[in-house]
Amino acid sequence: MKDTIGEDKDVVAIARKILRQYPLCNHCLGRLFAKLGHGIPNEVRGYSLKTAITMQIHSEIMEKKSRELEEELEILASNAGEPLTRLYKYFYGREIEVKKCFICNNLLSRRLFEELASKAIEYLREYNASSFLIGVSIDKEVLYRELTVASKTMLEYSESIKNEIKREVGKIVRDKTGIEPDFDRPDIVVIIDYNSLGMRVVVNPILLLGKYWKTGRNISHTIWVSRGVKKYPYSIEEFFNDRLKEVFDAERIVLHASGREDVDVRMIGTGRPMVIEVKNPRFRLVDSSLLNELLSNGVVEAVIQGSASRKHIELLKTELSKKQKIYRALVYVEEGIDPSELEVLEKEFRDRVVEQLTPKRILRRKKERLRTRRVYEVKTIPVANKLFEAIIRADGGLYIKELITGDDGRTNPSFTSVLGKQAYCLELDVIGVEIALLEENILENTSIQHTRL
Ligand SMILES: [Zn+2]
Repeated sequence: MKDTIGEDKDVVAIARKILRQYPLCNHCLGRLFAKLGHGIPNEVRGYSLKTAITMQIHSEIMEKKSRELEEELEILASNAGEPLTRLYKYFYGREIEVKKCFICNNLLSRRLFEELASKAIEYLREYNASSFLIGVSIDKEVLYRELTVASKTMLEYSESIKNEIKREVGKIVRDKTGIEPDFDRPDIVVIIDYNSLGMRVVVNPILLLGKYWKTGRNISHTIWVSRGVKKYPYSIEEFFNDRLKEVFDAERIVLHASGREDVDVRMIGTGRPMVIEVKNPRFRLVDSSLLNELLSNGVVEAVIQGSASRKHIELLKTELSKKQKIYRALVYVEEGIDPSELEVLEKEFRDRVVEQLTPKRILRRKKERLRTRRVYEVKTIPVANKLFEAIIRADGGLYIKELITGDDGRTNPSFTSVLGKQAYCLELDVIGVEIALLEENILENTSIQHTRL
């Protein structure tokens, strides 16, 4: 077997060398060798090393008393404290004043960890957290002092002061509450400020995956305030805030959806995929059947299908928003329309690329650019001689109203350009959003990893 702890890796010799140079408390000395030995708290490591040094120097003095040994013991005792101070007094009859720890200034102690843990537990209770993580913010100066000492040792075996506080406080919280820390997606993160020993809490939002429907018109997506006045009486976001804010005792509810309908467009059929973000909740465990009851019946309705992650929101905003959507439009043609013209329309829009300059109606809000999207299929149903219904399957992001009107030639081709007659969009509904992609992803993202301390 290979002897890995050779003379150059004699931990007692290294500790003795370091203590001749720096005053260190048990925690900070032990931390330099944190990765040696398993399941030993750093303060025990540190005290054990100091005990071993005490025994070593005791045997040396017994063998041969010398001025150098007396001087060394004096320095070691003032840098390390017990049990070296006791040995010094035993041999030389004088008390030694012990210096404060070079790294932590004697801040670290079991008692401090206990106090910090009690405060953290209060936050866990306040936010009804079922998982947590402890974080520590620390000054560069402390980190620098720590590195100065650690670089003189087997750096590979040391751990950071941050880590010790996080782990020790985390362990106490776990043991007292039975709540496991979660390194992946904790309900709350309690951040300890090393300087003030104060704490702040970061409450992770609850993310819920679902779909919504909008069966009424004149409803905006988010609250739309113009010159201090609400432009529309109601919004989808208000609906979620009205129904869910209270049960979660949350600050507010934010809606993330894959695209959005215009104010006057309904969302029916498959529903639009969404993620609901519950910000700063004090209650986290709400039964999903209760949620779905709260979200039923109204001009907006929704179902919650499960929990979501940030990745879902990203998917909604990127890939999913480009996926195909199906619309139903009620189209009005002043000059009248006959069935043969509708046939032409269906034929022309079979797998057809459409170029659109930013619609005039939103030019004030958006920069002008050319957008290219595909229409896959148009199906028409005559309603009256000036009216027909069109079912349109197209890429997400295509401006449907402009596809119909032509927007004064800014969208090409359009119903107007193909028919040679001005067409108007009287009503528009979204009836289908491709959602398979998102639903596949639910399974991938719901496994939460618990890492043990
Ligand atoms: Zn220390």
